[in-house]
Amino acid sequence: MTNTGPDVGFTAFTGLIGASGVDGVPGADDARDLTDPEVSPPGVPTTTTPLDEEQTAAHRALVDQWNDRLEGATAEEILDWVNEHVSGTVAVTMSMQDTVLAELTEGRVHDAEMVFLDTGYHFDETLDVAREVDARYSLPLRTVEPAYSVAGQDETYGRDLYKRNPTACCRMRKVEPLARMLDPYEAWISGVKRVDSELRKDTPILDVDRTGRLKINPLAAWTDEDVEAYIESHDLIVHPLTRQGYPSIGCATCTLPVAPGDDPRSGRWANSSKTECGLHL
Ligand code: SF4
Repeated sequence: MTNTGPDVGFTAFTGLIGASGVDGVPGADDARDLTDPEVSPPGVPTTTTPLDEEQTAAHRALVDQWNDRLEGATAEEILDWVNEHVSGTVAVTMSMQDTVLAELTEGRVHDAEMVFLDTGYHFDETLDVAREVDARYSLPLRTVEPAYSVAGQDETYGRDLYKRNPTACCRMRKVEPLARMLDPYEAWISGVKRVDSELRKDTPILDVDRTGRLKINPLAAWTDEDVEAYIESHDLIVHPLTRQGYPSIGCATCTLPVAPGDDPRSGRWANSSKTECGLHL
């Protein structure tokens, strides 16, 4: 089987955070089995460069000083706090399932960029929302892609890896690109909510990730009803599939509609025991 090497070159939206440093060609002395899904594409960073000790310590001090005080603050107050206390550019992670974070951050956190992970398996409707977000908000929208296109992944690891090994597929198409994406940023804002799942029920407002970056979860205390009310009251862009039985939207290949009253995330990886892609673990 031919190894196609990483392919990059996405050109949508405001900018691309690509697989910088790609050499695209495995070294001659690389003895690993490059068709093994546990082996990521060679020549592409898979981790985020850790911040130095001083920056990490400063972020830990912010968490120690402010986490309890921000508990009970509104999302707007939390983001005002980010604008006042966080130095450096802040990444706003956008799944495009909803656009609440974009609306909250716009005009409130002045040095911020929206970032969107284009797995190559998104619903067309998700990509449409991304285009609308880029048009509506002044914050730059950066996209990041996996090292391999879907075709490259199929050729390297065999067709439809997501069916056979969704953990490896999510690692290479979500976790590792996100790690590359975070490199230029000192802090990132996520839309994780405590009600999302048992694993997320203790999500703090502020956290320091394993690379020393500050992670801010302004929606941690929100319910799904809070999200819907905010979308309605601010006339936000609506992902059409959220009105067609898809309350939680990921890759088209791994997302099924959910019956009314069922767990909103039960449509994600519905045919496997997997419940998290790994981005927030
Ligand atoms: S959600 Fe499915 S298709 Fe998307 S990266 Fe994970 S396993 Fe692959």
